[in-house]
Amino acid sequence: MSIEELFIGSEAGNAAYRAAMEQATDAVVDSVTDTETPYSGRSPTELAGQLTEPVIPEEGMQLNATIEDVAKTVLAHSVRTAHPRCAAHLQCPPIIPGLAAEAMLTATNQSLDSFDQAPAATVLEQRVVDALCDLFGLPDGADGIFTSGGTQSNFQALLLARDWYCAQEFGRDVQAEGLPTEASSLRIVCSEAAHFTATQAVHYLGLGEDAVVTVPTDDAHRIDTDALDATLADLDRRDCDPFALVGTAGTTDFGSIDPLTDLADRAFDHGLWLHVDAAYGGALALSDEYDDRLVGIDRADSVAVDFHKLFYQPISCGALLLRDEQQFGWMARNAAYLNPEDHDDAGVPNLVSKSVQTTRRFDALKPYLTFRTLGRTGLASLVESTLTLADDASQLLADADDFRLVNDPTLNAVVFQYRPETNMDDDAVSRLNAAVREELLAEGRAVVARTAVDGVTSLKFTLLNPMATLDDVAAMLDIVRECGTAVRTESGVVV
Ligand SMILES: *Cc1c(COP(=O)(O)O)cnc(C)c1O
Repeated sequence: MSIEELFIGSEAGNAAYRAAMEQATDAVVDSVTDTETPYSGRSPTELAGQLTEPVIPEEGMQLNATIEDVAKTVLAHSVRTAHPRCAAHLQCPPIIPGLAAEAMLTATNQSLDSFDQAPAATVLEQRVVDALCDLFGLPDGADGIFTSGGTQSNFQALLLARDWYCAQEFGRDVQAEGLPTEASSLRIVCSEAAHFTATQAVHYLGLGEDAVVTVPTDDAHRIDTDALDATLADLDRRDCDPFALVGTAGTTDFGSIDPLTDLADRAFDHGLWLHVDAAYGGALALSDEYDDRLVGIDRADSVAVDFHKLFYQPISCGALLLRDEQQFGWMARNAAYLNPEDHDDAGVPNLVSKSVQTTRRFDALKPYLTFRTLGRTGLASLVESTLTLADDASQLLADADDFRLVNDPTLNAVVFQYRPETNMDDDAVSRLNAAVREELLAEGRAVVARTAVDGVTSLKFTLLNPMATLDDVAAMLDIVRECGTAVRTESGVVV
């Protein structure tokens, strides 16, 4: 291959680009078309056995041969996110406008860390962020930044909250001086169902995970506000310094949404930063039918939202939104080569100061193309259809004698246990459901998640796919039954 054929721009390069993209597109289409199952069922060992080509060969080979090889060894053994029986995690089928945007943003390779590396992209990201602040009802003066996802958004939100609190409470400039001597009394408060990345962030922030105070949840897996009040009073008595309250809009297991208005009231009364982790449930803001479930989110100091979940964008795509743009100041810095101070004075857009990343993808293009193609209501109707499906699925489970429905879904996560006999004890249920899950993946006929509910291993559908129907759910339950019977026969348990 000539050098020209390796880069877009020349006639030869453009032709090579088109050919490679066409072949790659065909390979993707072939890998997902007419497949009976969401996964081929290959085990880690089997996959390792078929991926033996040298990763860094001395001499290369033709690109089309490599793409062909990848199609056979990798794409064919990938989870098919658009398959109606792929229903395990918050892993969406990526929407075509998002995929088209992905192709454009990667090929142009704009980097959002400075205006001169991404002129129009910089301006567009800011416009998308402004529209998102409006969507969530944040006031004038709100701002945000695209992130790699909820993990990064939660981390950055709690970092800003910590530094804001230390400045006002202890007169400490954490960016310059590090943690104050009072750091060991700092606490963040969240429910026991909050995402693990909130706890992880507190570790990264140098406060230690013991600084996370978890509050029990109610029957619907939302933070229990009476218990929250007791917790806050207790922290007060013990002279602790809670600085952030984390609410979750869409917990990973149950999709439950904390009572955000109550949390906003508590945050106000106690001078806490309210962070709402809406990585999963944020998409309800699109829906006229369901946006009332997020009431109170407009009072948050910060909101984490993921577009690579219920907004159907290819990974990665998330954002952190802040009620007050000034709060980004806790992490701002000027680098002579990227955003010198005289640029700030001249009004040159400067996104790097708002991000924990430097080189950063133009992920904002993906929701932009999607919003403009479908409109708010078009995208909302996809989300709404999955919530309807989850309700119908839970009814199906509730009506079945051999299943126990564990939650009444708020979003589209449905948790259940396979209990073919009424008198099974919890240990037996745990063993059976764990074994069934393994068998499902090994067969590849349905991709279903597992979780633990009050110590009992349970199964979970995350019904993100707007193309899935109740028949698909019923088929998955039948497959669970078949696997369950096979597992019990194998283990010698009388069926
Ligand atoms: C997915 C998720 C996260 C983590 O987000 P990533 O995009 O995976 O980094 C955090 N919180 C909640 C509630 C989530 O659903």
